[in-house]
Amino acid sequence: MKKNDLVMVIAGREKGKSGRILKVFPQKNRALIEKINFIKRHTRPGGQTRQGGIVEKEAPIHVSNVMVICEKCNLPIRVGKKILDDGRKVRICKKCGELLDK
Ligand SMILES: [Zn+2]
Repeated sequence: MKKNDLVMVIAGREKGKSGRILKVFPQKNRALIEKINFIKRHTRPGGQTRQGGIVEKEAPIHVSNVMVICEKCNLPIRVGKKILDDGRKVRICKKCGELLDK
């Protein structure tokens, strides 16, 4: 999985939701996904603009709980691999063959 991939959560309390990957943490097998898995964080007053209080922020979730969505099939899909004529390795939708790397 890569940054900007569109993914759907397939397990846990956020099951069925989808969003784009904001950041991947390969060592931890986790990814931060837009608008998924919000947690409340207490912040302290200080800094330049920030006030103290509670903010909601996305927390990374385990990549085994998400699947890449093919924008053409509009479904979570299995990712295949393909080598283009110019030697580039790309990821494709195993179902319809759509390129996932544009
Ligand atoms: Zn597809």
